[in-house]
Amino acid sequence: MRSASLAHRTTLLVLREAHQPVKQIQVSKPFVIAVPIIALLSISGLIVSLQMQSENTISRLEDTIKTQNIKFEAIVTDKNEAIERLQSQVITLSGQSKELMNRMERVSELEAELQSFIDKYGSSGDPGKLSSLSWDETLGKGGEYIAVYDQEIEDLAQETSDDFLEISAMLDEIERIVPTTLQKAKQTQYSISGTPSEWPTLSTRLTSNFGYRTDPFTGKAAFHAGIDISGQVGDPIYAAAAGKVISAESNRSRGKYIIIQHPNGLQSWYMHLSEMNVSEGDTVKKGQTIAKLGNTGRSTGPHLHFEIMKGNKKVNPLPYLQ
Ligand SMILES: [Zn+2]
Repeated sequence: MRSASLAHRTTLLVLREAHQPVKQIQVSKPFVIAVPIIALLSISGLIVSLQMQSENTISRLEDTIKTQNIKFEAIVTDKNEAIERLQSQVITLSGQSKELMNRMERVSELEAELQSFIDKYGSSGDPGKLSSLSWDETLGKGGEYIAVYDQEIEDLAQETSDDFLEISAMLDEIERIVPTTLQKAKQTQYSISGTPSEWPTLSTRLTSNFGYRTDPFTGKAAFHAGIDISGQVGDPIYAAAAGKVISAESNRSRGKYIIIQHPNGLQSWYMHLSEMNVSEGDTVKKGQTIAKLGNTGRSTGPHLHFEIMKGNKKVNPLPYLQ
């Protein structure tokens, strides 16, 4: 039994310094097997624990990267959306600029039309500057155009910016021209007005009024059907309103005389003229010089005899004149 028990034991010899004796240690066999197994188990445990730790770290890193990625993607998405918004704004602006250009063109055409009306019916003046503005047809590229590339959007933005500059310049020009045109339009309106209001000569010195007076030739009471304005022979005589010359002739009593028919049924009469610048059938504007003051006919000195007829009745001209 003892020898069997000894067979299960192992003797370990421990060698130490030379002067010291060898030490014997007896251990059981299971112990010899158990020690390396325990050591192995400890090492593998350590390895497993290290592995788990590193897996944890990797997983945390992965989470962090994932979060960063999401943030980055969100930023990129935001930027893309901003770019898309900007692109659509540029396209919209471009459309608006084209529309504005078209409207400006129509305004310019209207201004030119107004100018040609004034030139035809009104006093002379400079032709409209707006009508001479040029329009670059190559700028009309907007419309249905859908931009795809950044370069195209940039070009479109530049073009739109140029369009707005051009529109601004046109507005400046319109602002400069329109008051002149308006002034001319007012002059035109005045010159084509058929209501007598223009004082017919330079002098404003009345020598005889409308109504009963003592006749300068007979010394008897007589009705004076107009007004007498004294002046110098050769002074201009102006048409009191626009109209048509229905008489430009002379007789013993009136001397050289002109009758103008106005559109509203009124007539103006001009007598004792020295010279007549219009003929029967002529159309005259208000304020136009039609004759020269004189002393022809039944007259005691250079003057204009001026009458206004309303229907078949002679009326006091003074209330009509300025
Ligand atoms: Zn008279």
